[in-house]
Amino acid sequence: MGEKTAQRYVLWLLTAEDELPRDLGAELSTLRDELGPCERCGNVAEIRDGRALCDVCLDGKRDARLLCVIARVHDLMAIERAGTMRGRYFVLGKLLSPLEGIGPEDLPIARLMERIRTDGVTEVIVATPPSVDGEATALLLKRELGPLGLTVTRIASGVPHGGDLEFADPITMGRALAGRQRL
Ligand SMILES: [Zn+2]
Repeated sequence: MGEKTAQRYVLWLLTAEDELPRDLGAELSTLRDELGPCERCGNVAEIRDGRALCDVCLDGKRDARLLCVIARVHDLMAIERAGTMRGRYFVLGKLLSPLEGIGPEDLPIARLMERIRTDGVTEVIVATPPSVDGEATALLLKRELGPLGLTVTRIASGVPHGGDLEFADPITMGRALAGRQRL
């Protein structure tokens, strides 16, 4: 959030009804006890009985053999909005970025490989953004996952180059998924 947006929120809270800022404060103070990253995929999950498993991981109708790898939870949400993804997800949390000093060892590749093995994944869809870092990460994943003998695909363009998956409309995102190609 930028400074101006933050200022706008504060001003709005100052002039809102009394209960609103108090209720919001109470909600925020328990947020981290109630929500956390899903222990399987990294999506946002409700914490129940000390365990965090998201709705997608708990959905028994999903095809566990199809795994979509994304950089951030925002991207997962954008793909879910398209409504055509029938598999599950794995959130990397970051992209390979030589400029920012993020190397292959900083990505959760070992955890991804473990997930592929335990779920019997047969296709990995690489849905990193079409940016320099996103493409570099896609190539790294192709190199690491290639020898496992599964199909590695990349979402088709249609998502603008240098753009964020988050801002792609559902139709474009649906097309990008449907038009994925072998990596
Ligand atoms: Zn999950």
